Amino acid sequence: MNQSGKEFESQMTNRNEQYKIEFSGIILSVQPRSNVWRYRLDNRTHSMTGYNIFLSGIAEGDERDFAIAISEKQQQKLRFHIGDEIRGTAWTKMYPKLEYADYYRAGGLKKLSEVPAPDENAKSPWIGEVPELTVYARRGCRMLDSRSWKTKCFQCKWACMANVAIEYNWGITQKFRFESFCYGPKSCKLYKMGRPRAVPYKDCGSYYDEGWLDDICTEQRGYDE
Ligand code: SF4
Repeated sequence: MNQSGKEFESQMTNRNEQYKIEFSGIILSVQPRSNVWRYRLDNRTHSMTGYNIFLSGIAEGDERDFAIAISEKQQQKLRFHIGDEIRGTAWTKMYPKLEYADYYRAGGLKKLSEVPAPDENAKSPWIGEVPELTVYARRGCRMLDSRSWKTKCFQCKWACMANVAIEYNWGITQKFRFESFCYGPKSCKLYKMGRPRAVPYKDCGSYYDEGWLDDICTEQRGYDE
């Protein structure tokens, strides 16, 4: 999987030759997939684009952990849960630095074995079935400490590793990186924002997202929602 936090400028986003791969494995986590657009501190826009399925298994003949991006329709049809064993095909990325998942354009998805229905009452982390993307969009999110995302929050349906584009020189240059977010209740005892995030702009240094954009993004939700 990609490294989070590191930035790449648009000139460095080389186009790769794509090819189709086969994979199989056990699901470790199902999370929403999103694209985020940042512009100074005036704008942080989140667009939900599907789900990322994190697996432990075999891809391209190698045994390892990897992530596959799938569509909302695919998730609604097959209802993937942590612990299910699945297989399918997918494609390598055209722009590797813009996409957190290792593969996308998944197809031929099949469940090889299924776990019992997940515990919808489990909290912190919430390991129940992922909701529709409109639910995430309506809830809005807060920045989540990247170490928490990797560890305690990894299985949570409210955790998300987003593909982020920063408008660095309006209309000319963008910077890209990956950022972790939480769509879960503000009362979750595992929540940690982590350090403020720099949002650079040409000739202006960096502005810092210190959390007040989180307050705006989630202002429609109460503490326990
Ligand atoms: S902090 Fe957020 S992502 Fe982590 S367990 Fe709590 S609700 Fe889930």
